[in-house]
Amino acid sequence: MKAAVLVEVGKELVVQERDIPRLGEGDLLVKVELCGVCTSDLMALRGEVTDYSPPVVMGHEIAAIVVESRNPDVKAGLKLTVNPMVTCGECLYCGRDQGKYCERRYGFGHDIDGGYAEYMLIPGEAVRAGCLIEAPEDMPPEELIFVEPLGCCLNAWRETEFRETLAVLGAGPIGMIFAALGRRSGLYVSVFEPLPHRRGWASGVADAVFDVSDEEVERFWDEVGGADTVILATNAPESIELAFKVARRGAFINFFGLFPKGNELRMELEEMHFKGFRFVASWAFSKWSLNAARDELASGSLSFKRLLTHILPLDRINEAFELVERREGMKVAVRP
Ligand SMILES: [Zn+2]
Ligand SMILES: [Zn+2]
Repeated sequence: MKAAVLVEVGKELVVQERDIPRLGEGDLLVKVELCGVCTSDLMALRGEVTDYSPPVVMGHEIAAIVVESRNPDVKAGLKLTVNPMVTCGECLYCGRDQGKYCERRYGFGHDIDGGYAEYMLIPGEAVRAGCLIEAPEDMPPEELIFVEPLGCCLNAWRETEFRETLAVLGAGPIGMIFAALGRRSGLYVSVFEPLPHRRGWASGVADAVFDVSDEEVERFWDEVGGADTVILATNAPESIELAFKVARRGAFINFFGLFPKGNELRMELEEMHFKGFRFVASWAFSKWSLNAARDELASGSLSFKRLLTHILPLDRINEAFELVERREGMKVAVRP
């Protein structure tokens, strides 16, 4: 089978010919139908993040079908996505459904082989840890790959406080999901985005769309009057300053985007005190949020497959990453 391997952090992926994984007791073999490309993967290729253990097959936004099972609880033919974090289930954090802080955690596409391959092994340990997220048979893979990104957004949503106005910084796929959640909650949603084509996408969802210039920030204050909540759905360092330019006093600011290592938040503390800002950095998902995301997408109460603008074959995976890098289109995925 073909698999796209992160051989070394900071380098391109290498498409290799590999043996189909052999199953042990309790394991599953799945055929990957589609796998979304995530910005965090791109950051690993650039050497900007440190949480990957190469050599490893990347890919954690997976839509797959079980083709062979050596686990009595799972039948071949099951359609699924995975919770890409395998956790111990016993520690303090696992008990709080914060498996992302589990010290024994390891990840599909990070530490064990993930979805940029024709087939993927799901170890029995991951099945026992509750990593399978079953999907209804009629759920298209183009929707199923959004369970993980939506799961991250629903987790962040639960960790954030809202009043009337929400500013979303960045109109990539994640920004679009946040904008949709905001509209659904009855908030007045403003999106800030430097790229014209992405502002076009945002204007179909948000109440108001702005570029990131000072004139536009001024127009935002005139027309909207500031943001009670700001979500940074981007990791562009300029967005940190923008967040404070658009925030009302007492605003809740969620640093959702994963910034490349080395960026800092600097703040004059008297000003922070009197402005009463509240900060949170939401990342990843919880078991609750992934299941909630699956339920929302399965029932059709939310749908994001229209954001999937590019599907490339696996051997063109580096082109897929270039599309993400250039921020062309919206969501990019590979079909092994
Ligand atoms: Zn992701
Ligand atoms: Zn744990």
